[in-house]
Amino acid sequence: MAVAVDLEALRKCVHCGICVPQCPTFLVLGEEMDTPRGRLYLMRAVAEGRLGLTETVGRHLDLCLGCRACETACPSGVPFGSLLEATRIQFRRDGPRARHRLFEAVLFALFTEPRRLGAVFAGVRFYRRSGLGRLVRTLGLLRPFARLAAMDALVADVPRPEPLPAVIPARGRRRARVGLLTGCVQRYLYPGVNRDTAELLALGGYEVVVPSAQGCCGALDLHAGREDAFRARARALAAAFPADLDLVVTNAAGCGSAMKEYGRWLTEAADLGAKTRDVLELLAEAELPLGPLELTVTYHDACHLAHGQRVRQEPRALLRRIPGLRLVELPDSDLCCGSAGVYNLLEPAIARDLLDRKVASIVATGARVIAAANPGCLLQIASGCRARGLDVEVVHPVELLARAAARSR
Ligand code: SF4
Ligand code: SF4
Repeated sequence: MAVAVDLEALRKCVHCGICVPQCPTFLVLGEEMDTPRGRLYLMRAVAEGRLGLTETVGRHLDLCLGCRACETACPSGVPFGSLLEATRIQFRRDGPRARHRLFEAVLFALFTEPRRLGAVFAGVRFYRRSGLGRLVRTLGLLRPFARLAAMDALVADVPRPEPLPAVIPARGRRRARVGLLTGCVQRYLYPGVNRDTAELLALGGYEVVVPSAQGCCGALDLHAGREDAFRARARALAAAFPADLDLVVTNAAGCGSAMKEYGRWLTEAADLGAKTRDVLELLAEAELPLGPLELTVTYHDACHLAHGQRVRQEPRALLRRIPGLRLVELPDSDLCCGSAGVYNLLEPAIARDLLDRKVASIVATGARVIAAANPGCLLQIASGCRARGLDVEVVHPVELLARAAARSR
């Protein structure tokens, strides 16, 4: 059953504008209708029947990154993310066709089916390692196709898969038995992050179960208003994890944020949603033996970790526990980097503007290592740093923790 747009929640907005300067699309576009306040005005007019599901309204909603920075800023407690999701569902069901519907359909067909995505990334590995990618770039063959060029710039290489064992036993006293979500992009592009996640959890006293049948969590579908697909994926994921697990762990902020909200959408996945934790939340409570790393590191807050899950202190506290590591605050660390699921592929110009701002902030810190806890951010920020020729490393915090743990042995 469809979730109705919550009119009472929409009416909580008092138009104060406190959220406006925090909104990345306002920073780039400077338009009132591309602010949270403007979008809430449009959503409310639609919900009250004063405005139809027009192309113009749809476009202003499409341009929203869904970053939820406005939720963090709002003193009135307007739940912008869930209002946006419900309105997007309404648009997808009854509204006009979005301008990039075909491209989006292809992206979703690939990105939300791990097996298909694996085949695509195997092709990308060949494209990169055979030199074909370099040739295409040298000849400028993708220049007329902005979205294909954006995809090409994003993935520098595809590592070989590293499947994890079905169970990784806890070291020492067992604290709990947890499931690990291996993710879609994460398992193919960052298998080392999954390996490090599992090893650190085991080191912290968690027995880690990795169900082989797990699919996509449905986060991309939810954020795009693809309600039926989202519910089907959430239901399938809940069935893939054993019911007797104490917790389920993610290391991808976008996945964790959507999973934690499962209970709002379907009862069959409510238990999985209630058990979901980001890996950094669990590791912050665990005792980890950490050796020294002489590094200057800055930390980017992934939107769906900072704004979606309100996890801000744990990653910083964990990084500060590494002896020798100097953590430098990133200016506007929670400003979206432009990745936002597949936004960087659908709206490459706005995404590039945000990425340029992020890279400029990184340069200002002088850090040689940038940590971020979401695969989309890792890809996006790494591509921006490559384009600027920066000699930096872009890593998930668990990679630094795993290195420090190896130094303690
Ligand atoms: S979710 Fe992000 S982009 Fe969308 S209105 Fe809120 S702050 Fe702006
Ligand atoms: S969403 Fe919140 S912060 Fe933004 S204008 Fe409305 S009440 Fe003010």
